[in-house]
Amino acid sequence: MPSILGVIRTMALHIETPLVESRALSMSAGRSVWLKLDALQPSGSFKIRGIGHACETYLARGARRFVSSSGGNAGLAVAYAGRLLGVPVTVVVPETTTDRAKELLALEDAEVVVHGASWQEANAYAQSLIDASDAFLHPFDDPLLWQGHATMIDEVRRSGLVPDAIVLSVGGGGLLSGVVEGLHRNGWSNIPVFAVETEGAASFHEAVKAGHTVELERITSVATSLGAKRVCEKAMHWSKVHSIHSVVVSDHSALSACERFLADHRILVEPACGASLAIAYENAPELEGFRTVLVIVCGGATATVDQIREWAKKCA
Ligand SMILES: *Cc1c(COP(=O)(O)O)cnc(C)c1O
Repeated sequence: MPSILGVIRTMALHIETPLVESRALSMSAGRSVWLKLDALQPSGSFKIRGIGHACETYLARGARRFVSSSGGNAGLAVAYAGRLLGVPVTVVVPETTTDRAKELLALEDAEVVVHGASWQEANAYAQSLIDASDAFLHPFDDPLLWQGHATMIDEVRRSGLVPDAIVLSVGGGGLLSGVVEGLHRNGWSNIPVFAVETEGAASFHEAVKAGHTVELERITSVATSLGAKRVCEKAMHWSKVHSIHSVVVSDHSALSACERFLADHRILVEPACGASLAIAYENAPELEGFRTVLVIVCGGATATVDQIREWAKKCA
């Protein structure tokens, strides 16, 4: 009994994901395109890397419950981590949350509390529930998250592949902060990053333009996982000390990339991830001069193929 538990507890909650060269994307982009397939993480997105690490750390510090206010991939990662660690999870979501998201959370045995008309209200209520023995898991703004996300770059480094540019999606900037931390801790501080957002969710783009973080009035993109109104300060910090190029694509581009990726690689991802794939599918001018491009396939479990096609019809 103790030996089995011992084995389980020494393993991280995330898995080491495949790193593959995509023939289809390489042909579209006219250069070598590699994929870090974090869509294959057990919770459906890269988020389990950072959230798994944060949950394990908070448990070791004595947390008795994990609380989240995300009805998206962050909440799913907390629910998954809690189930594996044997820690109860409460996720507070607003009334706008889809039935699918609530079902996915319930499938991981999380307690789902529906409260308020918007995320702000759900989040405020979640904060009010927290007592000294609870840990609140932020979706993108926590150094433990960035440390955990950075493991994907450790894996790339161990594989022997040396990319000369990295493409990733930006919501609140947690993935960006983790990947850049990973580049720096592997001696790759010279590798540039393309930080991709969709129109209507471009809070990093606006921050870079302004020279400081700014709050978007509202999110209008279908890429809801990129819908942080303001990026974390750490993402802003990295934009000043690392070569990070902000790129904005349309919802239409992100959605067609999802459809093409499903056909080419048989993996369904959210438009939040399609945004990064679109850069390669459309051979964006920004990629000029780079021979080996690594796309972080961040994944996402909250969109169905029907929903992606429904959205695509609306923004055709
Ligand atoms: C959370 C998420 C993002 C954005 O990550 P941030 O850390 O918020 O920038 C992108 N894609 C998917 C699928 C996500 O779940």
